[in-house]
Amino acid sequence: MTAVDSFRIETEPYYRPVGDEVAVFEAAYQHRLPVMLKGPTGCGKTRFLEYMAWRLRRPLVTVAAHEDMTAADMIGRFLLVPGEMAWHDGPLTLAVRGGAICYVDEIVEARQDTIVIIHPLTDARRMLPLEKKNELVAAHPDFQLTISYNPGYQSAVKDLKESTRQRFVAIDFGYPAPPVEAEIVACESGIDPGRAATLVEFAQRSRNLRGQGLEEGASTRMLIHAGRLMLAGLSPAAAAQAAIVLPLTDDAELREALAAAIAACL
Ligand code: ADP
Repeated sequence: MTAVDSFRIETEPYYRPVGDEVAVFEAAYQHRLPVMLKGPTGCGKTRFLEYMAWRLRRPLVTVAAHEDMTAADMIGRFLLVPGEMAWHDGPLTLAVRGGAICYVDEIVEARQDTIVIIHPLTDARRMLPLEKKNELVAAHPDFQLTISYNPGYQSAVKDLKESTRQRFVAIDFGYPAPPVEAEIVACESGIDPGRAATLVEFAQRSRNLRGQGLEEGASTRMLIHAGRLMLAGLSPAAAAQAAIVLPLTDDAELREALAAAIAACL
């Protein structure tokens, strides 16, 4: 058993394909091309990659990027163990050595000096330099890099540099078509298809408020939460309020607009 084996996904994750994303990812993986999953939060990017890792029988190592993340957090560092300094591989190095798929979630959150670490892994070199250790790690033939990116959040300061984005094959994840999204919500939350469909109708209305003060509308994830609350006995309105409206916004006017949408469809 190698270090990445604990990152294997043993049972098939439920994933409802919404387009040609499975075929695109498989083609990209065949050539070990880096992939960028684009789309709003909570629309199925992570679940998709879990499914693909299971399908391709590769371990999946996930790194959640954030602004304080350093290069060492990704690649590893020397740590003091009794009597000596010992090197500990970070998650990226673990994936590179062990032939896993490495998923860097929300990559733009990371600082530029951290993002550039992935560059030599995303071209013909397929190398990871560990400068502190004076080692150049050649990627395992099965290693592949996938990142996620939410175009909705980006500002001029926080955007992917052209030199980074052009390295990736991109797959676009919007919210699925309403009947498909309702199927997902019903399946994941356990509520009946009719109630799932009304939740999706409400979500669509909330998504129309994007740009009018609301950064994002209700995500598929939020609808699943609401469905679970309904299954536990809450009324649709109470469930939508707790799982969707309150987490989405603190603005009184927007809450009113969302409450009106709830009244109209739930
Ligand atoms: P993201 O990574 O885009 O933020 P997730 O992959 O975590 O979002 O999706 C949130 C939840 O929505 C998942 O846990 C899953 O329950 C559900 N989901 C979204 N899309 C799908 C899909 N196509 N098939 C199955 N479940 C989905």
